[in-house]
Amino acid sequence: MNSLTKKRCWTVAVALIFAVGAGAVAQAQQASGTAVSKAPETMAVDGRITAALQQISAERIRANIEKLVSFGTRSTISAQDPAAIGAGRGVGAAREWIKSEFERYSKDCGGCLEVKSDTFTEPAADRIPQPTEITNVYAVLKGSDAENAKRIVLVTGHYDSRNNDILDTKGDAPGANDDGSGTAVSLECARVLSKLKFPATIIFLTVAGEEQGLNGSHHFAKMAKEQGWDIEAGLNNDIVGGDKSAEQDHSVVRVFSEGMPVAEVEARRLRGLGGENDSTSRQLARYIADVGRAYDAGVKPMLVFRLDRYLRGGDHYAFNGEGFAAVRFTEFREDFHHQHQNVRTESGIEYGDLARFVDFDYVAHVARLNAATLASLASGPAPPANVHLVAKDLENDSTLTWENSPGGMASGYEVLWRATTSPEWEHAEKVGNVTRTTLKLSKDNVIFAVRAVDAQGHRSLPVVPVPER
Ligand SMILES: [Zn+2]
Repeated sequence: MNSLTKKRCWTVAVALIFAVGAGAVAQAQQASGTAVSKAPETMAVDGRITAALQQISAERIRANIEKLVSFGTRSTISAQDPAAIGAGRGVGAAREWIKSEFERYSKDCGGCLEVKSDTFTEPAADRIPQPTEITNVYAVLKGSDAENAKRIVLVTGHYDSRNNDILDTKGDAPGANDDGSGTAVSLECARVLSKLKFPATIIFLTVAGEEQGLNGSHHFAKMAKEQGWDIEAGLNNDIVGGDKSAEQDHSVVRVFSEGMPVAEVEARRLRGLGGENDSTSRQLARYIADVGRAYDAGVKPMLVFRLDRYLRGGDHYAFNGEGFAAVRFTEFREDFHHQHQNVRTESGIEYGDLARFVDFDYVAHVARLNAATLASLASGPAPPANVHLVAKDLENDSTLTWENSPGGMASGYEVLWRATTSPEWEHAEKVGNVTRTTLKLSKDNVIFAVRAVDAQGHRSLPVVPVPER
């Protein structure tokens, strides 16, 4: 230990001794900023987005979910040969219909959507008896700004379904809620948002292979990573049907986000910073909470700070694994009689994932929350780059530096902070169109982030700084 380090240790020790005094509470309040700043305002409402949300139709969603159910089964290992497609039964027929639906929306917006298929052969595995062709179907609404079009926000649902037996290729597996509802959210967001233009790109994705082992999303996320796509946010909707059971709360939708990232590099970085609650997926979840306060979607996001429900998984995990921010939307209370079940009645209980258990108004509300999030992110500037916290000197002020939001849309920046024990951002300070600022707050007592804002008030996702020595 050199003398300088020794002196620093002593200083910290003395500071601790004095802090355990009468002034400690006041000092802590000062440090978390409760005494010096106000709570952050809700994001500005964009009238164009509000108008788009009104176009989202529960009736359309009902028709789409019923159409998906009409394919009998959408098991990933069900038939997809031309005869089955012609007969309208199986995963192949469902896939062709989804494609035709995206193409129809594209026709209505003068060809604004690029409708694509991502087809690959999944090798045999536990839940895949023989090598099986799997197809993800998606529509791309390319960003209108050359630089910002590289930025991507994405909404996804899985169109495959299952019943009791994961290897059943023939029996009915209606999958109205799981995940006809999420597929319908992707479709309806595509129909409505394709009527607008956004600087950044939006992808409306529907995947298969989820029930077999997240095969479709794994393939898609890996492809995105390999091709260097800049996916800022992934919204996975899985079981958002608002099952009409007595204890359902139709006013909320759960938003699950990972804490420590499954992507190792990111996890190591956060662990060293006390950033266990600050993965990029969690910033996305907080952004959705912000959107939920600004726009009246008809449903409020309820943030759940865990990757997923106990022992369950979903497609957002595949994106997280490649280092992308992604969250999962799921109804407040699931009815397990209506998931992964053969359609039947036993002891007076109706089993099976049928369309009549789905609350189509609820799905429309969830679609509005998704659309508002996609539109806000795609309208707004890119997050600031290389956000750093200057930590080479021991001092009680905090200096943050960053590089301009790429793409030139930002008109200014805001520094956010919250107590280390708080779930959401508590304070925001507009610092102008600068790339460096110093706040009279101790970096050791709060968590900081920086976000970019444009002239209309659209916000980027916030970025938590890394310390700079
Ligand atoms: Zn599902």
